[in-house]
Amino acid sequence: AEPLVKVEGLKKYFPITRGLLSRTVGYVRAVDGVSLEIHPGETFGLVGESGCGKSTLARLVLRLIPATEGRVWFDGQDLFALPPAAMRKMRRQMQIIFQDPFGSLNPRFTVADIIGEPLRVHGMRRRADRDRRVAELMEMVGLNPAWRHRFPHQFSGGQRQRIGIARAIALNPRFVVADEAVSSLDVSVQAQILNLLADLQERLGLTYLFIAHGLNVVRHVSTRVGVMYLGQLVEVAPVDELFSHPAHPYTAALLSAVPVPHPRRRRERIVLQGDVPSPANPPAGCRFHPRCPFAQPRCREERPVLRTLTSGHAVACHFPLE
Ligand code: SF4
Ligand code: MG
Repeated sequence: AEPLVKVEGLKKYFPITRGLLSRTVGYVRAVDGVSLEIHPGETFGLVGESGCGKSTLARLVLRLIPATEGRVWFDGQDLFALPPAAMRKMRRQMQIIFQDPFGSLNPRFTVADIIGEPLRVHGMRRRADRDRRVAELMEMVGLNPAWRHRFPHQFSGGQRQRIGIARAIALNPRFVVADEAVSSLDVSVQAQILNLLADLQERLGLTYLFIAHGLNVVRHVSTRVGVMYLGQLVEVAPVDELFSHPAHPYTAALLSAVPVPHPRRRRERIVLQGDVPSPANPPAGCRFHPRCPFAQPRCREERPVLRTLTSGHAVACHFPLE
């Protein structure tokens, strides 16, 4: 089947400027050559430490920020080539859920205003129509429609995230990015929100890009998982394959930090050395080499490209693990 989302050679360099004339002295290479495909109906989990470029990648894919280089196709259409009117129409199909959906919103907006806003922007002019749809959406995400005149601060973190989800699905999108959507919630609440997302996926035929910093969250929701390190994708595999046979030392290190419930499946711990280097000045060759326990001289010189190991499993490493 054709991918719903196809990303090719995507880059985002943020200039670092100095002085009165804003002279460019360098670039933060937040996303540095990412290619991937997301298939209809799947959940593509994207993991990596904070600052590795996950959120920037998501914003590029949704064309919320301009790319430095590369292409994104949505449903076969070259997204960056769409004129504004066509892009506005396309926006209905692609939505995002943030970690803190209301951090930047006017605290005097009611839940009805917040969920109804995308409906209004996209042409549902009559308030009565919006109110009906808002009530329906609130029910879909497990909120009592009678609460629609309340304000976000009157809700718990989990309920607020349900409001964010209702807003994201208001226009019947096909593709939803969940950017750390459960990261700040308690574990029990996380599970409820993950169940809700799975539910909605089934009911509405949604495709997700699910971003998290840890592997344990993506494990239970993803079809496939991509691991990012310093702006690059270092491994992509079906979720079970990634957990049973990680090929990149960085993935293995992330996994050995995950509590393994089955004692016989505990692997040898790979402990990450040092801090993540700055994306303004990434290491030459393999970007992971200063922290990799398996680094060889070749790793310091030659950048490993993402290559296929077995069907659906790709890794960017000169010496992948068995
Ligand atoms: Fe480690 Fe070398 Fe593989 Fe990079 S290419 S992850 S340094 S073994
Ligand atoms: Mg982020």
